[in-house]
Parts: sequence; structure tokens; C-alpha cells
Amino acid sequence: MARLVVPIRGSGIQKMGFLGLISSFQTQPISCHHSSQRFVRNFNSNLSHFTEFTDRRRSGLQHLLRGVRQSKARLTCSVATQPAPNIEESKMDTPKEIFLKDYKMPDYYFDSVDLDFLLGEEKTIVSSKITVLPRIEGISCPLTLDGPGLKLISIKVDGKLLKEDYLLDSRHLTLPSPPTTAFTLEIVTEIYPQDNTSLEGLYKSSGNFCTQCEAEGFRRITFYQDRPDIMAKYTCRIEADKTLYPVLLSNGNLMEKGDLEGGKHYALWEDPFKKPCYLFALVAGQLESRDDTFVTRSGREVLLRIWTPAQDLPKTAHAMYSLKAAMKWDEEVFGLEYDLDLFNIVAVPDFNMGAMENKSLNIFNSKLVLASPETASDADYAAILGVIGHEYFHNWTGNRVTCRDWFQLSLKEGLTVFRDQEFSSDMGSRPVKRIADVSKLRAYQFPQDASPMAHPVRPHSYIKMDNFYTGWSSVSLFLSLEFFLYIYFFFVFYNIIYKMSTDS
Ligand SMILES: [Zn+2]
Repeated sequence: MARLVVPIRGSGIQKMGFLGLISSFQTQPISCHHSSQRFVRNFNSNLSHFTEFTDRRRSGLQHLLRGVRQSKARLTCSVATQPAPNIEESKMDTPKEIFLKDYKMPDYYFDSVDLDFLLGEEKTIVSSKITVLPRIEGISCPLTLDGPGLKLISIKVDGKLLKEDYLLDSRHLTLPSPPTTAFTLEIVTEIYPQDNTSLEGLYKSSGNFCTQCEAEGFRRITFYQDRPDIMAKYTCRIEADKTLYPVLLSNGNLMEKGDLEGGKHYALWEDPFKKPCYLFALVAGQLESRDDTFVTRSGREVLLRIWTPAQDLPKTAHAMYSLKAAMKWDEEVFGLEYDLDLFNIVAVPDFNMGAMENKSLNIFNSKLVLASPETASDADYAAILGVIGHEYFHNWTGNRVTCRDWFQLSLKEGLTVFRDQEFSSDMGSRPVKRIADVSKLRAYQFPQDASPMAHPVRPHSYIKMDNFYTGWSSVSLFLSLEFFLYIYFFFVFYNIIYKMSTDS
């Protein structure tokens, strides 16, 4: 995910040329627990280390991984996620502090999730059918689902409608004693996207339906274990008025589409890869697309589509150029090939998160996609190149290899920032880009680092995870042990996934 950029007026960045400028999603400062002075020293040290490292990118990474392998025996990496929801706590509306040390593995995993959306002007009906797998068969534990403020219509277990065998409060739906072996959970909820002003979950803006689920927006769509270590394969069927919402998009590949009675139509999407729910996305509205193709190094043709309101379409040429450049660069430099036959980008003016890497359906604020020579500066072009690359690179670093918990947020962001900085450097001038990086760090990071808003890169607790999307995780992470471990584990998992895909 990337926050929306607010350009710095009068900064040196605007005086620089297009080539070598950086991606601009690091807009707000993030602080680490060092003092500013100590951070300056560390940062300068990081810079020299980083420059050396990037110059030897391939060989350096291998060297780095060897070092991690040798030392991993004596290292411990504390990881955690949300603790199991407490039914007592959920009765209270006061925010709860989540502690790293309280991590517990989930008692239930979700294997597949079939979603069905009936989009309407007054209300939207969301039906989910989830295959639930107990972590340990034969032991019955409560299954608690997140769902603040959701209206429950019905709930079924293995096809049987539940009347009393569940607990519902303002934040959670709990099954006190679900089956002790695999079972099917069907839940129907009613939501009101047109009234959703939080812009988390499913909301409606300028006539279009749009989602934002990172970090904890999916729980506002349907009852769910909304935590990144719950990974499932999704299908998504969308039904809506054809005139008002001619375009229906979700993750993965389009399996079916067609017309229905009453002026409606539908689309059925299937994402073949497991993902956490924060990567789910849905878009429905009046959009048009710029289409292109990219042939991967293995010879597979990928359809690329950038969707915008009709009047914005002429301004998407640079974004398409950036996407194709990013896809090619990731193959050449990191050996990572795109893994589906379709890649969609949606750019709408009302998306408040800046940009979001939903699997195969990236959603952007228009500011980070649209450019024309009449209205865009060199810095705007550079920013688009960087942020399009950033969200695309998440396809592997963040999506296919993802976080187990939100305390690991800085790992997926740090590695992906590193990758997009390398991309922008290779596309332009490496020294100029580093100067721009440092200028931003000094302008944003240091003041926050010296303020009451200072916080560690990896916090020990949080109340609302959204507060940690403050951007400058990139440079400050280069000496982080977890960052190196993430790179190590990324390549371990990537090799496993690659081997599985080539075996099948
Ligand atoms: Zn990101």
C-alpha cells in the first residue's frame, strides 16, 4: 500500500529532472526508536552499505542470504499477530491495544472463500461460503469472526441454519462450539456502501463501488477472521445494474460474465492463488480501459488494462509504459515473472489510500496514474513510474509471499520499497535518486522522529494499524534484522512456490 503523495513545494525534488527521481509514495514520515542524531549516523552508514549492496545487487544478495543462513541458528525473530479475539472485550467499544507478545496461531484456517455481491443503491447483500479447517481436528474451540457494525442476515453450518448457536455483538460473530472437523460456513450480511464514509471495506464514491481492505477493511464487508495469516482461495461473483455499473472487476481471472433479467448483469472472478483478505478487491462502475499486452520471459501473454473514467483515459499512456517497464525489470533483475494472464489497474479520483496492491487488481488514486505533458511535471512522471512499479512488485513481495501479522508490515513494505527504489534508479540516475531519497528523509522522517509521533519501525503494540502506514520504512529498515530475514524467507518461499508451480 502507498499513501497519497503531497508534493513538497519548493523542495529540491521539483528542480530535478525526471530521470532518477524516486517513487513518491513515501510521503509521511515514519520514525524509529533511535534518536534523530543516532538515526543520522545509522542512515549514513546504511547509505554507504546500501550503495555498495545495490551495486553488487545479485551477488550481494546471495552473499547476504549466506550470511543470514549462517547466523540464523543464533537469531530469534519474534513474530506476532492479533491475539485471539476476546469475547468479553468485544462487549466494550473502547479500542483495544494489540500486543506483539500475545500472538496465537489461529484455531481455524479458511481454505476457500466464495463471495457473492448483489450491489444495490439502498443496500448490498454479501454472501460468503467458507470452507473452514480446524488447526487441530477433534478439538472444539470457539471460532470468532470480525465484523464491526455488520448486519447479519443468516448463518449456516454445513447447510444447517443456525438460530441460537452463535453470539453476536457490535464487533464480532462467535460460534462457541463449531464442528471439530472440516465444515462449511455460510454467512449472509447486509451492508451500505453508499453510507460508508470510513473508506474502508466496500464504499461508493462518485457513482462507483470500490474497496480498500488493507489493513483491516475486509471485516466491514463480511464476518471473517480478518488477519493476514488466514489465507484462502477466493471466487467473487458480482451482480449489479448493467447501465449504472457496466464494469465489474475483482481479483484473478474472469471466468464468466453475462446478462440477467431486470437490466442486470454479472461477472464471476476466480483467483487461483491463496491470499489474505486484505488483498481482496472489488470495483464496479462506469470506467473505460487502455489495453495492452506483455509477453513474459516464458512466452505467456498477459493482458494489461488500466481503467479510468472516460475523460482520463488519454492520460494513462505513461502509466502503461511504467507497468510494462516494471514487469520487464522484475524478470531481469529479480527473476520474478507475473503469474496470471490478466493485470488490472483502476485509477479513480476518490481512492484515499494513494495506491493498493490488491492481487491483480491494483487500485490507485488518479493523482498517481494520470499524466499529460500539459499538466504533469517531471516529478509527477517519476512518481508515477515509481508507484506503479511499487504496487506491481508487491505481487511477489507482499502478495504471494505475505505477512503473517501486521507487526510485519514494515517487512513487506521495506522490501518492496527497496525494489521500487532499485527500479527507479535503474530507469534513471542512481545518485540523483538517492539525493532525492535523503532529502525526503530529512524533510519528513527527522521531524517526526523528534516528535511525540515517533514510534518503532516494528512496534510492540498498536491500537489501530493504519497509524503505521507512514512511509519511510524503506531506508530505516536496511539494518533491520527482520528485513534481512524477510529477504531470506522470501527467497525460500519463492523457491518452494516456483517448484510447486513447475511440478504441477
Ligand atoms: Zn507498499
